[in-house]
Amino acid sequence: SKKQRLDKVLSHIGAGSRSEIRKQAKQGLITVNGTVVKDSGIHVDPNQDVIEIGGQRFTYREHIYLMMNKPPGVLSATEDRRDRTVIDLLDQEYAHFEPFPVGRLDKDTVGLLLLTNDGKLAHELLSPRKHVPKTYEATVEGEVDAADVAAFAAGVELEDGYVTLPAQLTILSRERGSKVISQISLTITEGKFHQVKRMFQAVGKKVVFLKRVSMGGLKLDESLPQGACRELTAEELRLLD
Ligand code: URA
Repeated sequence: SKKQRLDKVLSHIGAGSRSEIRKQAKQGLITVNGTVVKDSGIHVDPNQDVIEIGGQRFTYREHIYLMMNKPPGVLSATEDRRDRTVIDLLDQEYAHFEPFPVGRLDKDTVGLLLLTNDGKLAHELLSPRKHVPKTYEATVEGEVDAADVAAFAAGVELEDGYVTLPAQLTILSRERGSKVISQISLTITEGKFHQVKRMFQAVGKKVVFLKRVSMGGLKLDESLPQGACRELTAEELRLLD
């Protein structure tokens, strides 16, 4: 496999900045395959060579997989001139992997957001042909009823003429105040721009709160505070395959 600069490999795993690593190398603290390496600019194969810092072996990994409980008010983009993004919320230990969000949630949408630097997995999850199911919970203004359930199961026509694929709508509860408010769950297998909001718009109702709770086999860990993230477990990663 590919050789890379030692300082780059080590800073990539969070062992320190490149200049810190250069100092550690000069001090004789870094070994490659048991030999002290004083020049942190040498090239190593991170998948083959045994690299130790101060006697501690490090394990190289290229990819990171994070689950975030996205808070409202931040963009699911990597950078933006005006707004805070989900990347701005990451601790350095995760940020140095340079993950990006897999797909988009609206600024006001909360819940499950996967972040990774594994372009292949992201591509597969987002591929329209794969029809990866995504489940949302929403608060909707208006009385969501059996006719809406049937319409969503058949496919609804959005304002631009697109007809959505069959989607599973479940009415969780309704409250009757001055206006009727419905709590629903909706599973869709595609990801058109503002899709959930536009599907309800198509049946004359308005989404006022939207939260994603699952993507493929992966479920939002409800114990994650909004804005926090954690790495996927090996089991969760398998669920995405
Ligand atoms: N559908 C929407 O309308 N918004 C989202 O953020 C996700 C799905």
